Amino acid sequence: MLKEIIEKVEQFFEEGKREIEEIKDDELLEKWRIKFLGRKSYLNKLFSQISSFSNEEKVIFGKKLNQIKQKLIELYEKTKSEIKKEEIKYNVFLPGKKIKIGNLHPITKIIDEIVQIFYKIGFAIAEGPEIETDYYNFTALNTPEEHPARDIWDTFYIEKERNILLRTHTSPVQIRIMEKYPPPLRIIAPGKCFRRDSFDSSHSPMFHQIEGLMVDRDIKFTHLKGILTYFIYEFFKREVRVVFSPSYFPFTEPSAEVSISCVICEGKGCSTCGNTGFLEILGCGMVHPNVFKNVGYNNKIYTGFAFGMGVERLAMLKYQIDDIRHFYYNDLRFLEQF
Ligand SMILES: [Zn+2]
Repeated sequence: MLKEIIEKVEQFFEEGKREIEEIKDDELLEKWRIKFLGRKSYLNKLFSQISSFSNEEKVIFGKKLNQIKQKLIELYEKTKSEIKKEEIKYNVFLPGKKIKIGNLHPITKIIDEIVQIFYKIGFAIAEGPEIETDYYNFTALNTPEEHPARDIWDTFYIEKERNILLRTHTSPVQIRIMEKYPPPLRIIAPGKCFRRDSFDSSHSPMFHQIEGLMVDRDIKFTHLKGILTYFIYEFFKREVRVVFSPSYFPFTEPSAEVSISCVICEGKGCSTCGNTGFLEILGCGMVHPNVFKNVGYNNKIYTGFAFGMGVERLAMLKYQIDDIRHFYYNDLRFLEQF
C-alpha cells in the first residue's frame, strides 16, 4: 500500500518536472503552481492521508512527501527567475549597453587625408610589396652598387645572397607601376618602409611614406612646384612659406628638398625647427632619364616628377606631436585624441 503511493508520488513529481520544462511565461507557471503545489493538488491531498498510516509508515511517507514538495518548489522558483531574466533581455525600454567604438589610428587618418588631396587632382592610388628585391628597391632606381643605402647597416636584408630585403622607401612602387602601365600616369602610393634606425624620438625602424609620380609629355619642374605647393596648403590648411632647395637623390635629376615655414613658431625659430624657422618635409625631383630607360619609357618624349614624404613627420607637425614613438605605444590616452 505505502510502496504504491510512494511510486505514485514519484510519478506525480516526474509529470510536474516534464510540464514545467515547456513553460515560458508567468501565466502558465501560475497554472502549474496550482496544479502541483496548490491547496487542491494531489500532493496536498496526500498530506491529509498521513494519519491513516502506522507510526513507522508515517515517518517514511511524511519524509517522502516533504522531499517531493521541496523539489517542486525549487523547480517553480528556478523557472520563475528564468522567465524574469528573459523578460529583462527583451525589454526594449531598458537602457542599452554602451558599446565602446574605436577610431582609426592617426597614421591611417593622415594617409587618408593626403591621398584624398591628390585623388581630387587626378592621382590614382597604387600599392606595392613591402618585401622587395634589390633590383626594385635600388638598381632600377638608378642607385649605384656602392651607394651607402645598400649597406646592411642601413637596410634590413631578409636574404642577402638572393638580394631580398624590406623596402627602404615607397619608390619601388614607381618602377612596378611603370613596368605595368604605359605613360601618361599619375599615382600616389602610401605604405610601410623599413630602415635600420634606432627607435628614438624622431626615428623608427618601421615608418610610413607616401610616394607620388606623374609622367606625361612636357612635364616640367614648375608642375612639380605647383602641385606640391597646392598639397602643402591643403594639408596644413593655411598659407605657409614653401622653399625648394637643391638636393641629391639617385633617381631624380634635378632633385630638391621641400621645406615650409615652421608651423609651431611661424618662422621665428624654435626647438622643433632647430631655430631655423623652417622644417624640411619632403624630397622630390624630375625623374632621372635612367629610371625611364629601366622601365622602357621613351625619355625623349616623356618627362615626369616624383616625390616622397614621411607620414609620421607630417602627422607630428600637423598635430604638434614631439615624439614619433607615441604612434606605436598603443596608449589609448594618446590614440583617443584623434
Ligand atoms: Zn619653429
